[in-house]
Amino acid sequence: MIEVRGLTKRHGRVLAVDDLSSDVPPGEVTGFLGGRRRAPAGLAAAGPGRRPVTADVLVVGAGLAGLHTATLLARRGHDVLLAERRPALTGAIRTTGIFVRKTLDDFPLPEDLLGPPIRRVVLYPPGLRRPVTLDSARDEYRVGDMAPLYAAAARTAAGAGVRLALGTRCAGRCDGGWLLAGPEGPVRVRARYVVGADGARSRVARDLGLDRNRHLLVGAEEVFGVPAGDRTPTFHCVLDPSLAPGYLAWVVDDGRHAHVGVAGYADRFPDGLRRALARFRAGAPGLPPGGAPAEVERRGGPIPVGGLLRRIGGSDGLLVGDAAGAVSPLTAGGLDPCLRLSELAADVLDDALRAGRPDPLAHYDGAALRARFRGRLALRHGLAQVRTPAAARAAFAVLRTPPGRAAARRVLFGDRSFPAPGRSPRATASEEAGAARP
Ligand SMILES: Cc1cc2nc3c(=O)[nH]c(=O)nc-3n(C[C@H](O)[C@H](O)[C@H](O)COP(=O)(O)OP(=O)(O)OC[C@H]3O[C@@H](n4cnc5c(N)ncnc54)[C@H](O)[C@@H]3O)c2cc1C
Repeated sequence: MIEVRGLTKRHGRVLAVDDLSSDVPPGEVTGFLGGRRRAPAGLAAAGPGRRPVTADVLVVGAGLAGLHTATLLARRGHDVLLAERRPALTGAIRTTGIFVRKTLDDFPLPEDLLGPPIRRVVLYPPGLRRPVTLDSARDEYRVGDMAPLYAAAARTAAGAGVRLALGTRCAGRCDGGWLLAGPEGPVRVRARYVVGADGARSRVARDLGLDRNRHLLVGAEEVFGVPAGDRTPTFHCVLDPSLAPGYLAWVVDDGRHAHVGVAGYADRFPDGLRRALARFRAGAPGLPPGGAPAEVERRGGPIPVGGLLRRIGGSDGLLVGDAAGAVSPLTAGGLDPCLRLSELAADVLDDALRAGRPDPLAHYDGAALRARFRGRLALRHGLAQVRTPAAARAAFAVLRTPPGRAAARRVLFGDRSFPAPGRSPRATASEEAGAARP
């Protein structure tokens, strides 16, 4: 039996443990997690007589949005607890990991974890005949090596002082706090603010009474190594509603890895998502010759494409990334938006914590940002209407004209990214340099 009475622990300004009294009977596991810079604060199992764990901010979900928001807040001196239900960030990946030029320009992602640049996109109609090839003079895309990229981002977060609790699921609100279910049992957390970075089907959004994603695609892909050769790194996109209803099927071959995937509206796949992927894989364009790969990684998940949600913040917290619907409705790209929105989220939370009141969170206004998505929402509506192979072929007739090609180039190679928030991020120059650098 371990007995603790009235234990208080401070690290500078941060109250890590406040008057903790606890008995730990033999055989019961009580966890203590912490980053490198700040000494760990307690994550004691909940139970009668146990005080809740405290934090300035509880971030739920350690995807790119949660990791980035948590790191920015910890760098500004706040006590951040980041809870992630996956036991390791290198498994159950839900993204292809294509980073667009604007993200590569603005965020210092680790060079060694990015694949070779891609400048070529080939667009195919159903049947794959007479594709349209578009080449850019600039490096447009690079595919991230996502498992080590998440792991490196987690190390950066821990280095900034974030307490990262893996294998720990947020089970919702309880007794004025939040209940986490982790390897050491249930833990009650009392945080001034909570950040829902818990993906497209956010539970935090529901518990905070904020908007939730209703307009979703589902996607699945296979990833495998490919032999090096003299192929031009290429992004192949197939517009065929029998394979990918309402979106695209794709092959990305950057000379190191191939990603073969399909995405579309769940209720429109004629024989389900997995079978559509198998059908596409059997005749996918652009794959290097060779037999079936020895090792295949499978990825997949929902993709919110209804545009940024209107109500993404309230007096108790806010949403970032997919939870906020921060995904381009047209291209379904969410990596750039989740990094950019996380910066605004960290700004307003920093202001609110310093002011000691939630008023600055009013600046976190999804409705205002959403207005800048109108064009892309209209194009998403158009893409959703391509319901038959005949309609897709008709769209290709337009795409082959000079104005059609120019429009495709604007979408694929344009300079637009997630709309810059009305306020510029207030991060210091040194913080900016380290932002998103895992
Ligand atoms: C198949 C596919 C391919 C894609 N490809 C691209 C691409 O190439 N380029 C691009 O820009 N975008 C792409 N996207 C979209 C992009 O990946 C997402 O928009 C982006 O990764 C969202 O990051 P996030 O941190 O908001 O969410 P996520 O990465 O989904 O992270 C959410 C995290 O929350 C955790 N979580 C959920 N619930 C709880 C809970 N109750 N308690 C604790 N933890 C919880 C989850 O385990 C997860 O780790 C793709 C999406 C899919 C599905």
